[in-house]
Amino acid sequence: MNQEVVRLIEAGVQPREIVAITNVSSATVSYTRKRLGLPQYKSGRKLGEREGPRDLERLAKMRNLRASGCTLVEIGKQVGLTKQRVDHLLNPQKFIARSTINYALRSGRITRPKFCQNCSDPCAPQAHHDDYSKPLAVRWLCGSCHNATRIGERSRPITEMEAA
Ligand SMILES: [Zn+2]
Repeated sequence: MNQEVVRLIEAGVQPREIVAITNVSSATVSYTRKRLGLPQYKSGRKLGEREGPRDLERLAKMRNLRASGCTLVEIGKQVGLTKQRVDHLLNPQKFIARSTINYALRSGRITRPKFCQNCSDPCAPQAHHDDYSKPLAVRWLCGSCHNATRIGERSRPITEMEAA
């Protein structure tokens, strides 16, 4: 990857400006964003709102169902999507955060520690995001500590979790 392009993307510079500054093609910028685990760039649209008006209606319906306490499976049945797809559409930051970490691991920018940061158990710990809006801020936890943390979070109100 072109490190200059990576630096500019990470600094939040818009793709069009990166093309102007570096003289690379917009395809290169787009490819680099993909490699970094970032979503396709669409100016003026927010995360989770990258689709057409009909999809936005569906998204609004899905959010209402979620707010009224429906599970992802129940929402999926109503709108004709899989649980995974519903989760992806309702929580885009979660997927971006995970792919960012996976890419950072693969590319060697970060290294997985050899023990759990909570109980110090030697293992290949899992990356836990306390805040999906900070994709590289993770705690490395063994399977059982990670489960315990996630169960603890699930008992919090939905609104608090999804506001993160
Ligand atoms: Zn642990």
